Amino acid sequence: MGQGELDYELITPSARIATATHGGRAKCLQRLLRLDLPVPKTVAISFSGVHSIAAGNFEDLPEILSNFNNNDLLCVRPSSESLDWGGPSAIMNIGMNNLRYEELKQKLGADAASSIYINFVQAYSLHVARLDPDIFNPVETQNSAALAKVLEIYENETEHEFPQDITKQLSEILRSMARTWESTTARLLRQAKGAPLDAGLGLVIQVMAFGLGEGECGTGTLQLIDENDGKPKIKGRYKEQSQIRPEKSSVGALYLTKDDRGWSLEDNNEEIFRQLVEFATIMRLKLREEMQIEFSIQNGILNILDGVRTPRRSQAAVRVAVSLAEDGIISRNEAIMRVEPRAISELLHRQIDPDADRDVLGSGVAASPGAATGKIVFSAEAAQSHASRGIDCILVRRETSPEDVRGMHAAVGVVTERGGITSHAAVIGRGIGLPCVVGVKDIRFQIKRKSLICNNGRQLKEGDEITIDGTSGDILFGSPKMVEAALDDAFQTLLEWTDEVSDMTVRANADTPQDALTARKFNAQGIGLCRTEHMFFESDRLTVMREMIFAKSAEDRRLVLERLLPMQRKDFIELFEIMKDLPVCIRLFDPPLHEFLPSDREGMHDLAEALGLPLSDVVRRVETMGEYNPMLGMRGVRLGVTVPEIYEMQARAIFEAIVQVSKEGISVVPEIMIPLVSAKREVELVKKRVASVASQVELETSAEVNYKLGVMVETPRAALRASDIAMNSEFLSFGTNDLTQMAYGLSRDDAGKFMSQYVQQGVFQEDPFHILDPEGVGELVKLGADRARSIKPNITLSICGEHGGNPESIAFCHQLGFHYVSCSPYRVPVAKLAAAQVAISTQIS
Ligand code: PEP
Ligand code: MG
Repeated sequence: MGQGELDYELITPSARIATATHGGRAKCLQRLLRLDLPVPKTVAISFSGVHSIAAGNFEDLPEILSNFNNNDLLCVRPSSESLDWGGPSAIMNIGMNNLRYEELKQKLGADAASSIYINFVQAYSLHVARLDPDIFNPVETQNSAALAKVLEIYENETEHEFPQDITKQLSEILRSMARTWESTTARLLRQAKGAPLDAGLGLVIQVMAFGLGEGECGTGTLQLIDENDGKPKIKGRYKEQSQIRPEKSSVGALYLTKDDRGWSLEDNNEEIFRQLVEFATIMRLKLREEMQIEFSIQNGILNILDGVRTPRRSQAAVRVAVSLAEDGIISRNEAIMRVEPRAISELLHRQIDPDADRDVLGSGVAASPGAATGKIVFSAEAAQSHASRGIDCILVRRETSPEDVRGMHAAVGVVTERGGITSHAAVIGRGIGLPCVVGVKDIRFQIKRKSLICNNGRQLKEGDEITIDGTSGDILFGSPKMVEAALDDAFQTLLEWTDEVSDMTVRANADTPQDALTARKFNAQGIGLCRTEHMFFESDRLTVMREMIFAKSAEDRRLVLERLLPMQRKDFIELFEIMKDLPVCIRLFDPPLHEFLPSDREGMHDLAEALGLPLSDVVRRVETMGEYNPMLGMRGVRLGVTVPEIYEMQARAIFEAIVQVSKEGISVVPEIMIPLVSAKREVELVKKRVASVASQVELETSAEVNYKLGVMVETPRAALRASDIAMNSEFLSFGTNDLTQMAYGLSRDDAGKFMSQYVQQGVFQEDPFHILDPEGVGELVKLGADRARSIKPNITLSICGEHGGNPESIAFCHQLGFHYVSCSPYRVPVAKLAAAQVAISTQIS
């Protein structure tokens, strides 16, 4: 500890160094010393020390310097609590001056000495004197003439001689680094990476071991894994005579291992290479992390200058965590905690290569992750016709409706002008793993004219190639380089481990056999929401559905429903067969009927033809079914009460399906869920009818029909009256998409238009359709859960809105003691990881 306020420590195995006070780099260097690794002498200045330097306190500088020899050259590097938060650039060769130059010239030759001095003057000019980097452009070769030129430029620009005294040099450098950290830009940048407002900066001052001299000299890095996939691979770079530019170096740009081309350190100095690998292996074992070593070799002697967590892509992050646990270095729980849920979601989909150029045309809400490139098409039919010719296409619509679903299946991505995170395109996109961007702000959609006009006037036509990035919400021109999805064995292992610790299960929202298969692939523990209306999107069913809607009497309707019954039964049989004995929650029909009717004249004409009706009849009927506010109109249980034949047909299809699969040895107890309930009586009416269908099927088949009946709590009134509703329910599932829409009075299909502005201006902290609002909507959920439990303490509670796949919202549900969350199949792995992480954190705290 230094005197006065300037707080510093010489790093020794026992020095009082902590990440929270001196930063991660200082702590890591101490750990390396404790492992007996050859780390050059280093002094660490604490956060408070750096803070007082920013305020102009240099009292202890001579004392700090007394730790080093007179002739030592030094370097200073930043040491913040997390290396991800960045920090000012490291500065090397501190202490170089005219005198040292002459000495080094004798020892290393004029070019090497010039190179060291030039590097220092340039870094000092840029980071301390804050000169324009362009002023040094003409300096290409590094000899004494070039040095003289660089010093002259410095003097001309600053009107001062280049400082010769190391104390002066060091104080200016420390001050500059300390102030850079405290600047507003740096603060905003690190806050964006998760740093707290008062994050501190530490600095480490280290003796330079600069890899120049007569014997084996050079600097480099070494790591034990490939940063892309995390598989074992010795990688790095090594440059002999490191501070000399390649063209002046004796061997040029060099390589580390024999696998690389040309000269390698491994060939040239096997012993040092072996030591390096051994050190990296020790670091992995003792620091419990894959580390990248920064080293220098000085006349054949190895120095470890630094060790950082090996940078890695998502696929590698998962493999590293799993392999550290498999090697017994960390526990399985720690491996789970180390993987960010976001990384898992990246692995599930193709992504745009982070290094690719992005020609961004516009952006919207990132509604379904992953990236896709294809030709623009403006209709579902065009998408299908492109797909049949093997051409990838992006379906561009104002918004999507059930009629577009086949086109969505045919396209590689979807963009809509309108909509938010829970709009039709978004929900279907996430369900089938299709990249999707909705609510696009800065592009004008001219669907009829088949063109898109960007804000800067750029125009795109049908057939032009674009790429959509459903992870960021960007729409890009052309086809940037992609990184493929990477579901490898390590990913599967991590998913299996999550089940060992989670105390809340994760189900999938799955409507089709395809969804159910995806759900199983990701180890979903059941289906939490089967939106049965999605089963009627196939064109053959759509026509029957429309006939049903057009039926004049209940009897006519019943006759058409009899044709839909075997189709529904087949759907459920397939779902039950795929899910085997896992729970399946089936929601009865929810959307307003007119969503199944055509919206344009052409479609109505086709329908008139199919039903053998005059066009005028169809037009009139479609018009009379129109509602001012369909999301709050005749949908959900309101249909169940007023057009009961639909729910009766669905209940029969479910029961007949379970009787059928029970013959195959599959025992399912289906969970039947009623949507959009707001009153107790609605539940009573539907419950009675479903029970009566169950009795009929039991009578007809002589089989026992077991099922559970529950309610989807998605209106504020249902949450408030949850105790009444629970009386008639065996489970409650919170439909937080509609609940959010109704609690905020905010249309889920239109919110995308202004949501980003609302978030930017801090009106909402986050899009409440994306992360459950814990204060308002969350309070309704909590209140609903409490009231339901006051009547039925063991009632099964869950969430099936899109929030079920969001880590923060999952933590909220965990806090309320929910039994499960349910989300789109492709979000199941993220949800499982998040559920496991919250369970582990609760155990720890
Ligand atoms: C909900 O409202 O949260 C829900 C899951 O139902 P849907 O998205 O089908 O309206
Ligand atoms: Mg809903």
